[in-house]
Amino acid sequence: MADFEIRDLRVTVEGREILKGISLDVNKGEVHAVMGPNGSGKSTLSHTLMGHPNYTVTSGEVIFKGKNLLALPTEQRAKLGVFLALQYPVVVPGISMSNFLRTAINAKRGYDGKDKSKAISPKEFLALLKNEMSVLRMDDSFLSRYVNEGFSGGEKKRAEILQMAVLKPEIAILDETDSGLDIDSIKFVSNAVNRMRGPELGVLIITHYTRILQFIKPDRVHVLVDGQFVLSGGPEVADRLEAKGYSEWVGKKEPAVIQEAR
Ligand code: ADP
Ligand code: MG
Repeated sequence: MADFEIRDLRVTVEGREILKGISLDVNKGEVHAVMGPNGSGKSTLSHTLMGHPNYTVTSGEVIFKGKNLLALPTEQRAKLGVFLALQYPVVVPGISMSNFLRTAINAKRGYDGKDKSKAISPKEFLALLKNEMSVLRMDDSFLSRYVNEGFSGGEKKRAEILQMAVLKPEIAILDETDSGLDIDSIKFVSNAVNRMRGPELGVLIITHYTRILQFIKPDRVHVLVDGQFVLSGGPEVADRLEAKGYSEWVGKKEPAVIQEAR
């Protein structure tokens, strides 16, 4: 059994089937890339894994730590160790980054506002942030700004990765974290993710372009077209996409599903 198993997942959005039977095994220590053209269902997958209410699961399950993730509310999924970096991070007016991050860390530690010994100390909190912020090249002023308010595209994406770094998830889903990033920011973000790689973290990088995969080397690459995986393989799959794009699948009524040996 894999650490994180998506089994035959089918999802509809507003009555239309978007994911048409997706299965994927992710183990901690592995980085998987899910690549696909616009509208193929990549964000539907990421939102479904996190429990967004607009996405209706019609069949399938996601097994993590012996539980069906899909039966749990979003905050339980996060508490279990699943993290999603959003493609379009949301602005949270009136809440500073620093408060937001502290609250998220404390929630994960089980601090309910009562037992102070469970809360992260100010010293520990600052030490944790300082390190990660320097890798992401974020200056201290970020912490006093409201979450994502007035942030550039690149700053929002870095703020998502900062959250990931401090929350230390076991399964991280990065939904087009590379889109809207200039080449320097892609490197900073990739460095931060690469630092987190290790036996305790499984990563699902969702992307349209192969560029980020030059910096974060995936173990497996899966091609999603029209809600189905049409090809899975090693990093060479990304090279094939770089050369040929998605044209060999897009627009075909029944995309040929190519299976490669694991
Ligand atoms: P990708 O992330 O691969 O670009 P999405 O998962 O965002 O693709 O979208 C897949 C399809 O589902 C698209 O046709 C999109 O219009 C539709 N879809 C996704 N989310 C919604 C939503 N909240 N409401 C209506 N349609 C949606
Ligand atoms: Mg998307």
